[in-house]
Parts: sequence; structure tokens; C-alpha cells
Amino acid sequence: MVEFTHSKVVYQWSILPTSQHNDVANFIYLDFQAFSPPNNTKRLVIIMQIIKYPHPILRHKCKPVKRIDQGLRDIIAEMLVVMYDDDGVGLAANQIGLPYRIFVLNTSGNPEHKDNEFVFINPVMSKKKGSAESDEGCLSFPAIHAPVVRPDEIVIQGVGLDGQVREYHWKGFAAKAAQHEMDHINGMSFIDRLSPANLLAVREQLEELEMQFETNRRLKLIQDDAEIVAVIEEMERRYC
Ligand SMILES: [Zn+2]
Repeated sequence: MVEFTHSKVVYQWSILPTSQHNDVANFIYLDFQAFSPPNNTKRLVIIMQIIKYPHPILRHKCKPVKRIDQGLRDIIAEMLVVMYDDDGVGLAANQIGLPYRIFVLNTSGNPEHKDNEFVFINPVMSKKKGSAESDEGCLSFPAIHAPVVRPDEIVIQGVGLDGQVREYHWKGFAAKAAQHEMDHINGMSFIDRLSPANLLAVREQLEELEMQFETNRRLKLIQDDAEIVAVIEEMERRYC
């Protein structure tokens, strides 16, 4: 086992007092800490949790990333871990509290299927075609599923972990999943695309999540809006 010697904390964002990190579900916290491992390379240690509706960062329009360093690669590796752990097929950066235009996808949901694993940094979508309805769910809206109509075909371009731009022409499920994640980084969620009748059908479940959020806020388990804005700005200064 490798032992890390704690040096100085270079950055810390904590939604919860540290003592409560292990006690509460449905919260977010991130610690950016610098450690000095034996080889003296600084390492960013990040612990992530999925952010649930109606946390305001899900409404945040994420900013393009201006540089890719090891810290960002570590963040993205951790996003994939969180996505697989929660049985997701896609995860956008703001779903774990990061205001960056980044999302990850694996439509198989299987971490062993690396051919299906994609990282998009600063993605751009074009050539949308067709239209099809399919059921969608979202890690930020636990247990809620509803039909969403979207274009069935897209072209997506994005920068990968190696800094190279890649382009894919996707149809069907992958095209839908990419659009769902693209919506997230634009501050939208799939409920914004529901028909009035389908939105009404999930209203009660949404209200439960809203009540849970308000309770967590009252308990000071979630920061107030001004604090969240300050954290977002700090994170943007780091990579945008
Ligand atoms: Zn989602």
C-alpha cells in the first residue's frame, strides 16, 4: 500500500462540514487536496457525489475548459467511476459540481467495455436529424423516468483526454444519451423537454426531491446560492 503524506491543502470545497461527510446521502462534496506521494508528484484527490435536482448547479451553463492537465484527467477518471458506480450511462461535469463543459458516456454501462467509453471536453453538436421518443432517466433525478422526444441522429465533436479532437456520427441510443448530457452542460435537464402531460405525471416525484433539497438546505447540508456561485467562480478560475 502506498502511503501519502499530507502536505498543504491547495483548494477545498466542501458543501458539508467534514464531520458529516459520511452521514448524509443526497449531498455533494469535493475536496481538492494536494498530497505528496513518495515520488513527490502532486496529486489531486477528489471525492465526488452525484448532485440531485433542484440544486442550482444543474441550471448552470458550463464554461469551456482552456487547459487539460493531470488534475483534469484525474477529475474525468473519477467521473467515470461515479457514473459506473451509480449504474449510469452518462455523466456531465455539473452533475458532480464542476462548472466545466465536459461529459462522459458509456452506453453499455459496463466499465469493461472500453470501446463504448467516451470523454467529451468542450463538445459541439451538429447535423441533428430525425425525431424519436424514448424513455429517459437521470442520475440527478433518482427513480424518475419519462418519455422525451429528441433528434435521432447527431454529429458530435469533442476533445478527448489526449487533447485530440474526435468526431462521431451517432444514431439511436448513443445520439440520445449525448444530447441528454449536452443539455446538462447547457444548464438543462430532461424534465425541461417533457410534454405538459408527462411533466405532470412526474410532478409528485419532483416535489419530493424539492422537499428533500429544502430540508438539506435548512440543515445547512447544502450551501446557499451565494456560496455556490462563489465556488463555481473559483472552479472556473482554475480551468476556464
Ligand atoms: Zn442526466
